[in-house]
Amino acid sequence: MILSIFVAGLPSVAFGEKMPNKTTKEEILEEDKAEEKRLKENKAPVEKLAKEEAVEEGEESQAPSKEEEFNQILAALKENISRLEEEIVKLKKENRRISKVAEQGIGEKIPVLMYHHLYNGNLKESPFKNNSAVISVDMFKEQMKYLHDNGFYTATLEELERFLNKEIPLPKKTVVITFDDGYYSNIEYAYPILKKYGFKATIFVVGNKAKNASKDHNLKTGTLRGLSYEDMNKTSDVFDFQSHTYDKHHRIDNRAALLTLTKEEMLEDFTSIKEELNTRYFAYPFGAYNGTVIEALKETGHALAFTIKSGYVTVNSPKYELPRFTISPLTSLEKFKNIVNQK
Ligand SMILES: [Zn+2]
Repeated sequence: MILSIFVAGLPSVAFGEKMPNKTTKEEILEEDKAEEKRLKENKAPVEKLAKEEAVEEGEESQAPSKEEEFNQILAALKENISRLEEEIVKLKKENRRISKVAEQGIGEKIPVLMYHHLYNGNLKESPFKNNSAVISVDMFKEQMKYLHDNGFYTATLEELERFLNKEIPLPKKTVVITFDDGYYSNIEYAYPILKKYGFKATIFVVGNKAKNASKDHNLKTGTLRGLSYEDMNKTSDVFDFQSHTYDKHHRIDNRAALLTLTKEEMLEDFTSIKEELNTRYFAYPFGAYNGTVIEALKETGHALAFTIKSGYVTVNSPKYELPRFTISPLTSLEKFKNIVNQK
């Protein structure tokens, strides 16, 4: 600073006159040293000046305070803890699976159960008396109690995928529980029952229905309250949410809407729901599919797809044509026992 004022204050002529015209080596060295000294002296004040300017511009206030820094560390720790807690839950389930395999032996035929809406009351006196897809909450309760009391293991779809890839064994008494369409009754009634028994299940939801989830049942129009994304978040400790298309859960001229689409339209639909829920598994609406649907599922990163054909999943089942057992009002407890016990 001092130097710059000094230099600036010198008349240009005087400066020019003082320009040295060194010739000897010694003189050049001397000049170099002086130059170095000038640079050093100059550097410090410039740095200081830059800092002062920064303070004036308020940059200092943008640096995190001690409290903010502490809060950041705390948030990172909390994130770590919840990640570890998730890991513990996963390991506990893994442990349960392995000990059941040791106790029961390896399962070869896995029944995947398919449910829809659950009605809380007497079905025969309800608007669903002729609906083969709706069962009563009591019936569901009885079936889950049977599974629990008899040591059944509920596999997730991720585990079923690994079973099909021959990566893990599943216990002899394994079932996979699935619900189609995404009805609020699934979390209202099934969720507490499943949670009580430590069971897992999958709900195949229709993406755009979840986005605009109806808040009420309207039995006159046949609209049942749907699941919102918020509902899904709250119950993700029991359920995982997978694809039943984004908005192709209807018929066009008696044909499943999905089958009327071009492959590009299928890709668009499957991508839309994947973006919302990061889906990996799929259930065909009305069980309808063809080769193009399967291609589109593969191209959008869906690893398994379920039909509504009856039968057990084995390691030889085609991954995009997996069978499921429909649980209907006609499925007596005896029939249910036969299904899950592979009879
Ligand atoms: Zn459906």
